[in-house]
Amino acid sequence: MSNQDYYEVLGVERSASKEEIKKAYRHLAKQYHPDFNKEDPEAEKKFNAVKEAYDVLSDPQKRDQYDRFGHQAGFNGAPGGPGGFEGFGGAGFGGIDEIFEQFFGGMGGAGGRRRPSGPEQGNHLRYDMEITLEEAYSGGEKVITIPRTENCPDCEGRKTKSESGSTTCSSCGGSGQQQTTRSTPFGRFVSMQVCGNCRGEGVIVKDPCPTCSAQGRVVQERKMEINIPSGVEEGSKLRVSGGGEAGLRGGPSGDLYVVFRIRPHKVFQRKGSDLWLEEKISISQAALGFEKEVPTLDGSATLRVPEGTQHGETFRLRGYGMPHLRGSGKGDLRVKVKVNVPKRLTPRQRELLEEFAHINGEKVGVENKGFFDRMKDAFGNG
Ligand SMILES: [Zn+2]
Ligand SMILES: [Zn+2]
Repeated sequence: MSNQDYYEVLGVERSASKEEIKKAYRHLAKQYHPDFNKEDPEAEKKFNAVKEAYDVLSDPQKRDQYDRFGHQAGFNGAPGGPGGFEGFGGAGFGGIDEIFEQFFGGMGGAGGRRRPSGPEQGNHLRYDMEITLEEAYSGGEKVITIPRTENCPDCEGRKTKSESGSTTCSSCGGSGQQQTTRSTPFGRFVSMQVCGNCRGEGVIVKDPCPTCSAQGRVVQERKMEINIPSGVEEGSKLRVSGGGEAGLRGGPSGDLYVVFRIRPHKVFQRKGSDLWLEEKISISQAALGFEKEVPTLDGSATLRVPEGTQHGETFRLRGYGMPHLRGSGKGDLRVKVKVNVPKRLTPRQRELLEEFAHINGEKVGVENKGFFDRMKDAFGNG
């Protein structure tokens, strides 16, 4: 599996349509096809990379997944689980290997469909983590505190003080459900209902655990260390396997999904892996050119504005943007210059500018026009 950005491989924009992707693929596949490139050993590699990129980007579901998580390897390789936090069971970060319809659709959990006899996975949790652009840039660890339901530390989910403090419900035989049969003039109806004796639990608790009031579960505030991947994007999601709520009847814990939210930055605007910056320059700086230090997310860089720069021109400082979430390297810093025209002039400045205009043969200055003159201007040279 190559690690190069699939969009780059195909040479298309991230917003490219299906047709554009197909067109790019056809063109490149032809160009690098091994049959036409017998002398070039690199061609086959390129051909395979193009094919791989097309396989993913041509499939809406795969493309969506790729847009969110990039090359899975990038995430799977991310080291470190939340180390040292008690109760986390040593679970490391799972790879981002699931797509999220599942957790928005509410899979797992105890709601609705209870199967008292079988183990059930705990609820998934979602945590929206707000981070600064600087944090998204450098990545790193951040500790979050989330309240989550866990097995009671005293009875370990048993609900009873002693290990033999519960008996199987005699009414339902432990299934938690009761069958009722009603005879009516239309026939016999059999229905299943939650057992009234054990309320669907299947067991009768004799010596309830005081810590959890025989719930078997308690809500605990848990600290977890989240590894922010460098270059993470707005809405990127990270799955912490086993970071959700405790399972029922010995079932596995749910997962924790961390959704990254990036706070707007005062100075930079982010577009993909590029950062955009607006820089005001004066008319003389625009005309004569100049150099200045502009801020970057980890220091500064030198912006060279050449002579004769126009208002709105943008300059690209390569490698001063955001780190690529997938693959290596960084995007660029794009500096858009705004030429600032002075609103007020000192007499000396006015004199020099008038002289400048005079050399150019330009007519400058505004007379105080009357109403009819302005009408004339507005409707042409009447
Ligand atoms: Zn307990
Ligand atoms: Zn029962």
